[in-house]
Amino acid sequence: MKIHAITGSGSKARYQRCCECDLLFILPPLTKNQAAYCPRCHAKIVHGHDWPMSRLTAMAVTMLLLMPFAFTGPLISIRLLDTRINASLLEGIWQINSQGDPITASMVAFCTLGAPLTLALSLLYLRFGHRYGMNLRPVLLMLERLKEWVMLDIYLIGMAVAAIKVKEYADVQAGSALIAYLLLTLLSILTLTHTNLEQLWERYYPQEQPVGQPEAMHVCLACRFTGYPNEHRQCPRCRAPISHRQPYSLQQTWAALLAAIILLIPANLLPISIIYASGARIDDTIFSGVVSLATSGNAPVAAIVFIASILVPFTKITVLLTLLFGIHFKTSHSLKTRIRLLRLVTWIGRWSMLDLFVIALMMSLVNRDQLLSFTMGPAAFYFGSAVILTLLAVKWLDSRLIWDAYATENAKYTD
Ligand SMILES: [Zn+2]
Ligand SMILES: [Zn+2]
Repeated sequence: MKIHAITGSGSKARYQRCCECDLLFILPPLTKNQAAYCPRCHAKIVHGHDWPMSRLTAMAVTMLLLMPFAFTGPLISIRLLDTRINASLLEGIWQINSQGDPITASMVAFCTLGAPLTLALSLLYLRFGHRYGMNLRPVLLMLERLKEWVMLDIYLIGMAVAAIKVKEYADVQAGSALIAYLLLTLLSILTLTHTNLEQLWERYYPQEQPVGQPEAMHVCLACRFTGYPNEHRQCPRCRAPISHRQPYSLQQTWAALLAAIILLIPANLLPISIIYASGARIDDTIFSGVVSLATSGNAPVAAIVFIASILVPFTKITVLLTLLFGIHFKTSHSLKTRIRLLRLVTWIGRWSMLDLFVIALMMSLVNRDQLLSFTMGPAAFYFGSAVILTLLAVKWLDSRLIWDAYATENAKYTD
């Protein structure tokens, strides 16, 4: 591929390599409403719009003020046998923990409580740390990874699913902290979409356009800067180690993927929730839960749970397997379709946590000992772990390896 030299001293165009396929191209300066996509694999490279730091700080402060209400206050409440029971986010996590599953409890706690809190605190750290000359790199690197772990929106849908399920047994009402929770969710989504990390990096750690052979430039997967590694083979901007291809990427991805496949077997065969209603015990697996939702006239909710808990994990694993075999056998058959499918399931992938959130809410709502109670089945732990392992498998796969196979395949035909 021919790369033309950048001319004109006032031009802000710069060389950029695509993080996903390693293509080298020239990135023109963008206006506020523009976004740049890779010409080969259509990965999003950078977008122009962002909010000033003052507005992000205001959002972070508001989020921190809302959090005590949203996390501890009643979100939904039910009237059961003349008593009023409230479900709050913390209560649900505590219920899972006290029933002897601290690992599942911490998974739920991290996605609903830890990640939003970290988001707000990191923005404040950037604002004030910059003023006092502190090292902002670790926080910027963490913000890059934090995005998909803030799952307040998924928990909100989980509340709706739990409310529909509980309606069979009791009257459901909105709790007093629901408004605070809705506001917090909205603010976190707005903050995440308007935090432009590329511009934050440029503001705090501006880099000169490197001079030299553009072909020898590397892209840093941690901060997406394209340039020459320093003498320690580190990225000049974020100090993360730079390598031509991620070392042990295939081994790590295979390990996470195989573990996820194995864990999905008990996750689907064992009961994920157990309900005791007037002395009778009803075990539900993920699939039978979907079926009972569908047959009780809640087809749309059943469809959401089916997509989040069954369709997405299996599609993700199938696509990842074909991509990994594609790398090993150097095939590029329908590569662009598979990449598109992978992006789609990665984007929906976080929704797989939905079932766990529903369980956490149900456990804090329906807990009347002998008469009516709801507990988590053993499948919940396996399912949660499998979801997190597939998230990691996608993260660990250096997708440039896929395109290496594509390049050699194409070279065969052009020779
Ligand atoms: Zn690309
Ligand atoms: Zn970097």
